[in-house]
Amino acid sequence: MDISVVIPLYNEVESLPELTSWISRVMEENDFLYEIILVDDGSTDGSWEMIGKLRLNNPFIRGIKFRRNYGKSAALNTGFDAAEGNVVITMDADLQDSPDEIPELYRRIVEEKYDLVSGWKAKRHDPLSKTIPTKVYNAATRRMSGIHNLHDFNCGLKAYRNAVVKNIEVYGEMHRYIPVIAKWAGFTKIGEQIVEHRPRKYGKTKFGMSRFINGLLDLLSIFFVGKFGKRPMHFFGLMGVLSFLTGTICVIWMIVEKQYDIIHRIKYRDVTAQPLFYIALVTAIIGSQLFLTGFVAELVARSAPERNKYQVEDVI
Ligand code: UDP
Ligand code: MG
Repeated sequence: MDISVVIPLYNEVESLPELTSWISRVMEENDFLYEIILVDDGSTDGSWEMIGKLRLNNPFIRGIKFRRNYGKSAALNTGFDAAEGNVVITMDADLQDSPDEIPELYRRIVEEKYDLVSGWKAKRHDPLSKTIPTKVYNAATRRMSGIHNLHDFNCGLKAYRNAVVKNIEVYGEMHRYIPVIAKWAGFTKIGEQIVEHRPRKYGKTKFGMSRFINGLLDLLSIFFVGKFGKRPMHFFGLMGVLSFLTGTICVIWMIVEKQYDIIHRIKYRDVTAQPLFYIALVTAIIGSQLFLTGFVAELVARSAPERNKYQVEDVI
């Protein structure tokens, strides 16, 4: 099979008929062998019944239904597991992404050998309150991930080589950072394509302003886990040593100073009357806590089932 189109959807009943018939039209015009995997993320508006109906006329439609709403990442991950096509395209169900982009995305994966091609909604039809923070986030993500050629990490329209989706895991709300996850997994040929972005035709957006706070926290997590997930002690240990060292230096300084004062019969303060004493106390406590956190994290990493799961690309 050439293409699997994976579509996460949550209460998008009005869009589904138009979306699926448009995709089918594009596929048939280009003679692609395809499947459309509609992942119903616990919709309550009759989307699932609609999928059942659409399937009667189009055997290439497959449906997966969650019992409850788990989120876009969960839906994508489940769709990825099911996808059989050589190229996997993801798109949103709300008709904001245009299926007309599919042939070009497919060509770039197959002919130009990209691992992942991400859409870039260069001209967006969203309110300013969304586009400005998005710009800041994309700049931060570019810097932190080293993927300098992407402008729009969170675009719903993306194309992947099959091996990519089978070897990455998207969970929580990490769908915003799939290119970063792919890069950590060793898929580094990542490209971008300007795509048309259309205003939402039916229904309303499923993510509120909380997306920005969650997005920032996820960005921090993804970097921490990517860099130190398998060796947490290298992070916590270093921090702990620095903190402890600060405390030790303070203590030594206080002892030396006091001895000096005693020897030279200079009037001296009580230890507890010195700010340095409290700094030493706090840094020593924080230092030992960081160490303990490091040890515990190390134990967690050690018993993680994927501690020895690596991306083996080829064996001869
Ligand atoms: N979506 C989902 N589960 C959710 C929230 C959203 O499957 O819990 C789907 C939604 O139906 C749509 C896509 O994710 O197909 C993108 O959502 P939306 O258009 O609301 O996001 P926005 O375009 O505002 O970023
Ligand atoms: Mg949308």
